[in-house]
Amino acid sequence: MKTEGGKRIVIVGASAAGLTAAETLRRRGWDGHLTLIGDEARPPYDRPPLSKQILTGAWEPQRTTLRAPQELARLEIDLRLGRPATGLDVKRRQARLAGGATIDFDGLIIATGVIPRRLPHGDLNGVHVLRTLDDALALRAALLTGPRVVVVGAGFLGTEVAAAAQTMGLEVTLVEPEPVPVRRPFGDRVGALVAALHRDHGTDLRCGVPVRGLCEGGGRVTGVELADGSGLPADAVVLALGSTPATDWLTGSGLTLANGVVCDALCRAAPGIYAAGDVASWHNPRFGTRMRLEHRMNATEQAMAAAGNLLGDAQPFAPVPYFWTDQYDTKIQAYGIFPPDAELRIIDGDPADGHFTAAYGRHEVVVGVLGWNAPRQVRAVRNLVVERAPWTTSTDTSALLPVPVN
Ligand SMILES: Cc1cc2nc3c(=O)[nH]c(=O)nc-3n(C[C@H](O)[C@H](O)[C@H](O)COP(=O)(O)OP(=O)(O)OC[C@H]3O[C@@H](n4cnc5c(N)ncnc54)[C@H](O)[C@@H]3O)c2cc1C
Repeated sequence: MKTEGGKRIVIVGASAAGLTAAETLRRRGWDGHLTLIGDEARPPYDRPPLSKQILTGAWEPQRTTLRAPQELARLEIDLRLGRPATGLDVKRRQARLAGGATIDFDGLIIATGVIPRRLPHGDLNGVHVLRTLDDALALRAALLTGPRVVVVGAGFLGTEVAAAAQTMGLEVTLVEPEPVPVRRPFGDRVGALVAALHRDHGTDLRCGVPVRGLCEGGGRVTGVELADGSGLPADAVVLALGSTPATDWLTGSGLTLANGVVCDALCRAAPGIYAAGDVASWHNPRFGTRMRLEHRMNATEQAMAAAGNLLGDAQPFAPVPYFWTDQYDTKIQAYGIFPPDAELRIIDGDPADGHFTAAYGRHEVVVGVLGWNAPRQVRAVRNLVVERAPWTTSTDTSALLPVPVN
């Protein structure tokens, strides 16, 4: 797309990906109109601290703000906050906003993220989800009253919330239908280590039992009923059941929607229309597979790629995915992909010592590496994934792994 003063690029979703897309477009010389639409009233802020520093109170809320007002002003964007986009007309190249206004565009970037899943009666008093800063502040206020907490779902979000609540000295139960926490992303072995981490800190971890429903009394949640018939009393329940892509507003637009906005390897959903961040499902040519990632780093990298491609780069987006989680004093970092049928080998350190690096192999190549309190070590072996190193030679001995001193 040529840079022309009369043309307009619209970005829908004013968070990590949307903001990065706007900054990239300006940096790359787009001097046409640029409109950033967000349904939250707050200026863009960062979500990873919400389940960590904001819940525990280690950070003041304003520390999550991604850009100071003067930095946003320098972008010279038409920033429209507090109003969702409600529809898209691909042929007319027009987005519709709540209230009925429409906005024409020459190029569009969709960055609307995801929405937390709920259970039936999930809007009862005392039931929480955690996606926005307001969610985090409401949950922190509830935790400060000293409730018995049940966290439903032991993925990354649920385990982080349980760790934060436990750190605050609360009575915490973490419920998960799979046999161990974080099993889907990282498999049984790392899941068992995460289970031990939580049990060692005093969390009552109930794995292998689905939740049947929420219990109510006097308009409030009073507990959680498990599929085995048992009940867990609770004053606060946190639903950490995963998310669904925020694509309702695109229904009927003609874009393909299937677990996100379906894009090609350029992050393009239709001519002149791109998607980035948690909402985007795209073909990652590095791994030869379609992906949709809910990772903070991906929101930045994909937004840069989508914005560049909208301006004409024509570069496939082929990242090595990166993710981290912080729980208690443990940082887990992971590069690559972690399919359920991958084999895992510890290649450095020892889980018993609380520091190790592991590699995941599939089809005879390294597809992922994971560090458990091993930031330097895992960065040093990231290249095994980049280079698709052969599984056996790269992982049969820890001696060959270079670990830089600094
Ligand atoms: C509590 C929490 C902790 C996390 N911790 C980690 C972590 O430790 N490590 C990690 O790698 N990742 C983490 N993540 C994930 C990471 O924050 C996300 O991957 C990242 O925020 C995705 O950015 P995004 O811009 O694609 O989507 P989002 O941040 O979800 O932003 C989408 C924005 O679009 C808005 N929107 C939705 N629909 C509309 C509409 N119709 N019109 C206008 N606006 C709309 C939304 O309100 C939102 O503001 C965490 C996420 C959460 C919620």
